[in-house]
Amino acid sequence: MPKFSRVAIANRGEVAVRIIKACEELGLETVLLHSEADIHSRAFRMATHKVCIGPAATAESYLNIEANIQGAIAMGAQAVHPGFGFLSENADFAQRCEQAGLIFIGPSHQSIRTLGDKVSCKALAKKAGLPLVPGYEGADQTLQTLLKEVEVIGLPVIVKAAAGGGGRGMKLIRQMSEAAEQIESAQREAKSAFGSEIVFLEKYLDRAKHIEFQIFGDSTGKVMHLFDRECSVQRRHQKIIEEATSPSLTEDLRRKMGEVAVTLGTLGKYKGAGTVEFLLQDGQFYLLEVNTRLQVEHPVTEEVLGVDLVKMQILTAQDKFVWNDNEIRIPRGHSIECRIYAENSYMGGVPSTGLLGTVHWPEGPRRRYEFGFDKGDTITSHYDPMIAKAIVWDESRPRAIEKMIRVLKDSTVFGVHTNIPYLIEILSHPEFIDGTMTTRFIEKNFADGLKSKHVEADRKKLSQEVYKKFIAGGAGSGVTASAATTSENSPWLSHWRGI
Ligand code: ADP
Repeated sequence: MPKFSRVAIANRGEVAVRIIKACEELGLETVLLHSEADIHSRAFRMATHKVCIGPAATAESYLNIEANIQGAIAMGAQAVHPGFGFLSENADFAQRCEQAGLIFIGPSHQSIRTLGDKVSCKALAKKAGLPLVPGYEGADQTLQTLLKEVEVIGLPVIVKAAAGGGGRGMKLIRQMSEAAEQIESAQREAKSAFGSEIVFLEKYLDRAKHIEFQIFGDSTGKVMHLFDRECSVQRRHQKIIEEATSPSLTEDLRRKMGEVAVTLGTLGKYKGAGTVEFLLQDGQFYLLEVNTRLQVEHPVTEEVLGVDLVKMQILTAQDKFVWNDNEIRIPRGHSIECRIYAENSYMGGVPSTGLLGTVHWPEGPRRRYEFGFDKGDTITSHYDPMIAKAIVWDESRPRAIEKMIRVLKDSTVFGVHTNIPYLIEILSHPEFIDGTMTTRFIEKNFADGLKSKHVEADRKKLSQEVYKKFIAGGAGSGVTASAATTSENSPWLSHWRGI
């Protein structure tokens, strides 16, 4: 039975904090493998041990396999948790950990290669007769063949980088006249961003919903699913709001999709936490890809099922987690997660950086905040602008939406702009409220981002509320409103910036 008492964390920000908490609860020490830029962060302050593995640039630190391995070994860690992003889906990293005698908290490197690689995952699914988005993922990558395949599939078609991820490396072909240009541009981008110019083609489903299933393989290799999440609210193919369970599935669809997810996980000999992603359109579902890691939106699953996926991952790596056949898991109530980005929603979402002033997350029942930075920490331009996640649970979806809006209005992040006003607008939109949104919801309804006039009246009112609360209670007394504080013109933003 593999035992370990010290876990290295090859990540940063809120997910590093999430992993530290799980380790603490299991009585394990942690080693934070951090870059020079992250010494002012919650994870740095919370980890038992820390070691600097390189400069801010990700290629030299968080994406540098050897730097992570050497840091973990030097600090006496026996296991490595990769979090999400960075090296979490890198089969070479998982293999290198194994060679170095470190337990990789995740699936085997063979499973990552089979399921994590989009092309080989599709090949496996095709062989098993699972429903795929129609497309072409052949080895012949000549322009001539790709153009012919676009015609066979039928427009619109999406070109994707085989090694891509995070919503990047995709090009849409709506007309044959632009096909060659889009394919060549996708190949160029794929080469420079992911080091491989291999692309594949898929039919573009233009009124689809993004539905995914949480799968989990226990220490014995038994794969089960932990139900579904819907992540249709996306900007540039990146998720912004996620929920569990999906408001769009019938019980029949849920059962069928769950079975496909488990079949795929079992075929890929999956261990630990993974996500099988689907697109759902006109009552038909199509397999999209598998993410062989913990998912950013894992908390909504945890909230409706009462589980701790990170602890389950760690216990599986210790050969201590086995599914209990007698336990019936049924999701209860509804959970929503909002990704909070340091960006200016009034200026097309440009990233916002700087020193954080007061940060306050309003407490209350079934509200959860995953955040990596606090007052006095600096948000830099080196990394992803997601600085926190707000998660709520309530008895029903309408109540969860109301609670999330309340939570966002009562949250305070001073010093940088955030997308909080944007999130409030989305959550209040009729299409989100009735659950009919598709992955093109943002493109259709918020094509130009937020216009300050949309929230101008609200902003003025909220500014006054903020003023009253601060003058009455003094800084740090707690609850303030956020829509006002993130507006360009807010005196409170300029006043508090730099605290
Ligand atoms: P990544 O690995 O970069 O996240 P995915 O394949 O998971 O890429 O796709 C991300 C998002 O892009 C999906 O949730 C969906 O909104 C959109 N997308 C991807 N493929 C298609 C498709 N064939 N048709 C319509 N939308 C798609």
